[in-house]
Amino acid sequence: MKILNTREELRRFHSEHRSQTVGFVPTMGALHEGHLALVKRSVAENDLTVCSIFVNPTQFNNASDLEKYPRTEEQDVAMLEQAGCDVVFLPTVDMMYPQPASYSFDFGPLERVMEGEFRSGHFNGVGVIVSKLFNLVQPDKAYFGQKDLQQCAVIRRMTEDLCFNLDLVICPTVREDDGLAMSSRNRRLTKEHRAQAPALYKALKEVSNHLVEKGTVDGVIALAEDSLEGTDFRLEYLQVVDVKSLQPLNSLENISEVAVCVAAFLGEIRLIDNVLVQLGPKK
Ligand code: AMP
Repeated sequence: MKILNTREELRRFHSEHRSQTVGFVPTMGALHEGHLALVKRSVAENDLTVCSIFVNPTQFNNASDLEKYPRTEEQDVAMLEQAGCDVVFLPTVDMMYPQPASYSFDFGPLERVMEGEFRSGHFNGVGVIVSKLFNLVQPDKAYFGQKDLQQCAVIRRMTEDLCFNLDLVICPTVREDDGLAMSSRNRRLTKEHRAQAPALYKALKEVSNHLVEKGTVDGVIALAEDSLEGTDFRLEYLQVVDVKSLQPLNSLENISEVAVCVAAFLGEIRLIDNVLVQLGPKK
């Protein structure tokens, strides 16, 4: 596995491998099995797999979250090698931002809800860094996790708008055995909170069952709050949304699939998760 630190090294790598297909997995490091599932899928589907590790400051709207974001580079590199990755790109902040970006993104209604609503400027930061990385890596396919459903929607829009010549591959959320969605932030949970954390997925499943059985979104917040009772979770949002537009739904009339998305704090750690729910044909 090659470790590339500069844009020039990446350019040279490209010119040496022009005829080979490239799969790309952008990450912020502190890797876990969720990231590795994306890498392994890319390895299976492409001649070469490039993974980037870059904690992107412009997508953090909270200085303390950026400062405390876990960094485990040595371990990450070993895990990527094991997973069959061919190239790790490890740029510095100065390299990615020699000057503040002169362009910005407004994803419209897509970013006025959920993560975009509660993390001001987050998706602009995501759009700016992913567009730069797409230009540098020039992948044939890029791999993202459904865990960050809204991010997938924003990147799909950006890829279409900027005519990036690549396919997006969205991979299912990888969970711990107890249901907790794997996340780099999980390692910052206290022991007590780690034990409580699976309650979030359990609440999502209860809401999901409610939607299927009752056919209505009414009462879902109360249901989730009841489900989280007895834990330290503080719900930031829980929304039932259209899977494509991500706009909140008040009615399930003529809708066959929805996503239930949640963000909640456990202590000072903010966790997000979502499930897709098939509603089937209306009776
Ligand atoms: P991050 O390092 O958190 O920016 O994540 C890098 C990529 O890994 C993103 O496309 C995430 O959606 C994806 N990812 C993170 N956690 C998981 C997970 N538990 N399952 C699947 N993909 C994930």
